[in-house]
Amino acid sequence: MATSDVGAVKRALFEDIDAERERLRTLARDIWDNPEVALRESESSERLQSVLREEGFEVEAGAGGIDTAFVARYGEEDPVVGTMGEYDALPGMSQRATAERDPVEPGAPGHGCGHNLFGVGSLGGALAVKRAIERGDLSGSVVFFGTPAEEAGGGKVYMVRDGAFDDVDAIVSWHPGWYNAPSKGSCLANDGFDFTFRGETSHAAAAPESGRSALDAVQLMNTGVEYMREHVPDAARIHYVVRNGGAAANVVPGEASVEYIVRAPEREEVERISEWVRDIAGAAATMTRTDLDATKTAGMYGVLPNHALADAVRENMDLVDFPLDDEQAAFAEDLRETLGDAEGALKQLPESEREAARESAMFSRPIDALDEGEVGSYSTDSGDVSWNVPLGRFTAATWVVGTPAHSWQAVAAGRDLGTVGMAFAAKTIAATLADLLGDDELRARARAEFEERSADHDYESPLPEDADPYELVSR
Ligand SMILES: [Zn+2]
Repeated sequence: MATSDVGAVKRALFEDIDAERERLRTLARDIWDNPEVALRESESSERLQSVLREEGFEVEAGAGGIDTAFVARYGEEDPVVGTMGEYDALPGMSQRATAERDPVEPGAPGHGCGHNLFGVGSLGGALAVKRAIERGDLSGSVVFFGTPAEEAGGGKVYMVRDGAFDDVDAIVSWHPGWYNAPSKGSCLANDGFDFTFRGETSHAAAAPESGRSALDAVQLMNTGVEYMREHVPDAARIHYVVRNGGAAANVVPGEASVEYIVRAPEREEVERISEWVRDIAGAAATMTRTDLDATKTAGMYGVLPNHALADAVRENMDLVDFPLDDEQAAFAEDLRETLGDAEGALKQLPESEREAARESAMFSRPIDALDEGEVGSYSTDSGDVSWNVPLGRFTAATWVVGTPAHSWQAVAAGRDLGTVGMAFAAKTIAATLADLLGDDELRARARAEFEERSADHDYESPLPEDADPYELVSR
């Protein structure tokens, strides 16, 4: 692709996405209207798959042993570029597209993380690139990865273990948020565990001497971990909940269980802390004469940033429009009223950008990465992808300024208002994938950076051996 052609190719990609705008909006709305939680997102997955099949993609479902995962590929040739889409909802987040708290159905799921937009935005980008390949504007192949169960267990980690991301040159992906910026940061690697202790039940008053309390073991374990906590690096996070503490105070609990998550910036650190936690669990069993069943339920890597790809994303953002209509702008203002003071959230922005974010409920002007050199206190299954293929990530503004993820305001914005940011994401993805297909040098730089950042650590799946996502997520 000669430099003079690049602009024309991108304009054609954007026109394609504009022509598809109604279809993409409808698709995102249909998934929003029928929110499905992790591993049960079958209709959402099917809706995306059927569009891709219709468009001539070769679609294979079931990657990583997850029925709702799929890989859709168009093209036979190298290079191969890809994007990812999520589509799972969150339990209990049901909310109408209104500027007041009002569930569609109390207790039902809802799209509190914007994954209906995430899936369809990425799909829009992949479709446009496919058309450009078809027209002969670009050469190579494009892959859309349908990645389920982000909110529970991390579907991508299973897909990585299955080799779904092998033989891809680079991936560009995004997540809904309230600003438009590439990401240059990392996040925390993690491990998840279930510790179940088994003792002996007995009458707590009449025969305590014949009981062995599993709850005592849980409490001693938690106390042990609290004493350990001072002696791990500051950035580490260890959290737990008691899943089962027994049934009645007058019965010595014969079974009790506690769920743990261990997080730290480096995978090795997570493993060191996890081993310590497991030792403490074993010691608690010894102290209480109970048996321990320790099960690792999840594991993830932190994200390897890729500045070459983030810079390409950032440049493309400047070419993309953000056409909010009057009704959407008014709804955004109403939603902002419900969020209270956004000053805390605005502190994430450089001072020079805060005024613009104060002025409008939708902050659409693209900005530079906010997280360069930082390790965010969160984990994502995109981390494992980033250790296997160069991954460019960004955030697009689908929510009102300051909206936290997993809030009802995020759900409310996701049915229509957020489709503007979704189209912005589709265009940014399409343009960056076009750069990757046409520019050997960009691909080489992204690859070299990936090799350099991953040089001191060989990726090994953090999942327990033979892990079955369905069994682990239901625990
Ligand atoms: Zn999310």
